[in-house]
Amino acid sequence: MAKSLYDAKDARGIWVYLEQDQGKLESVSLELLGKARQLASPAKLKVTGLLLGDKVAGLAQEAIAAGADEVLVAEHPLLGQYTTDGYTKVATQVIMDGKPDILLLGATPNGRDLAGRIAVRVRTGLTADCTDLALEDGLLSGEVTGFGGGVLAYIKCPNHRPQMCTVRPGVFSPPAPDSSRKGKVTSVPVELTKDDVKVQVLEHVIGEGVDITRAEVIVAAGRGCRGDFALVQELAGLLDGEVGWSRVPVDQGWVSRDCMIGQTGYVTRPKLAIICGISGAFQFTVGIEKAETIVAINLDEEAPIFEQADYCVVDDMFRILPPLIDAIKKAHGGNGGR
Ligand SMILES: Cc1cc2nc3c(=O)[nH]c(=O)nc-3n(C[C@H](O)[C@H](O)[C@H](O)COP(=O)(O)OP(=O)(O)OC[C@H]3O[C@@H](n4cnc5c(N)ncnc54)[C@H](O)[C@@H]3O)c2cc1C
Repeated sequence: MAKSLYDAKDARGIWVYLEQDQGKLESVSLELLGKARQLASPAKLKVTGLLLGDKVAGLAQEAIAAGADEVLVAEHPLLGQYTTDGYTKVATQVIMDGKPDILLLGATPNGRDLAGRIAVRVRTGLTADCTDLALEDGLLSGEVTGFGGGVLAYIKCPNHRPQMCTVRPGVFSPPAPDSSRKGKVTSVPVELTKDDVKVQVLEHVIGEGVDITRAEVIVAAGRGCRGDFALVQELAGLLDGEVGWSRVPVDQGWVSRDCMIGQTGYVTRPKLAIICGISGAFQFTVGIEKAETIVAINLDEEAPIFEQADYCVVDDMFRILPPLIDAIKKAHGGNGGR
């Protein structure tokens, strides 16, 4: 691989790309700041946030409260909407000036898009979709699943800088904000013209779907529900939770990918997960293993999901859910939740 544009000896600190949309920081950026802080403090490294947009400097304090020591703010009217070419150009300029040792980005659609572009521009490697990060002798180790989830690989980038990783939303918990933290906010010069931005954003549409990564209660169903989500929906409603699913319901065409949990779906961390008719393949459980309490209902007592579950119900979900729903309704005094 070609030499990177700057050497390890010139590189300093951990940077987190602070993704924002319509003036709101994406939760994954705060999650990454929390993790960066954890990695940086023992090694006495600086954590820097990289914030691009138009009139977004107001978000810097939120990033400082989440763990940033400094926030570099690149503002320009042409950065008002995310565009691959505009954001790549500006982010690359700032990175070449500041020479981070490590650069972390959220594995969101825009974060993934930007990460790949930056890595090529500065000629470094990129470890995508990490499920954990560690610092080992100054080198970043990104944990990723490989071969369909059968193996865990730990990837390092010893010779190129920055060491880049993307991490999906929900992998790390967001840090508790500390409004007393002090940090520096630095406005950086932006060289960007209309000719640099060839992508034209015609419309900005915000999806109406739920954000399952933030749900405190998830009732999830798999092949065992046979396409009938009525009971899991009712239970989720009573518990103020959201409905999720494994990949089989998506492959069967029963539901969209919106709330699919797992390796190629979302990583969630609810307080309570009720898993109905899902076998517990590794590719599913990576998306639910951070739940505080897991209740699994499955006909097969040998189902792997029971190895993850705190409460195991070996039975038919269609036999267990109706009396459970009735009991919760009674406990609510006959009121049906949402
Ligand atoms: C590269 C790759 C990525 C993948 N990514 C994902 C991913 O992100 N998410 C994901 O979910 N999968 C993913 N998969 C697929 C994954 O390997 C499994 O095939 C999938 O999770 C199985 O879904 P399931 O548990 O719903 O179905 P099954 O494995 O068929 O299990 C159905 C379960 O329901 C039980 N059951 C049946 N009827 C009832 C009933 N009436 N009451 C109670 N229990 C009942 C059965 O005993 C069985 O255990 C991926 C696979 C690959 C190769």
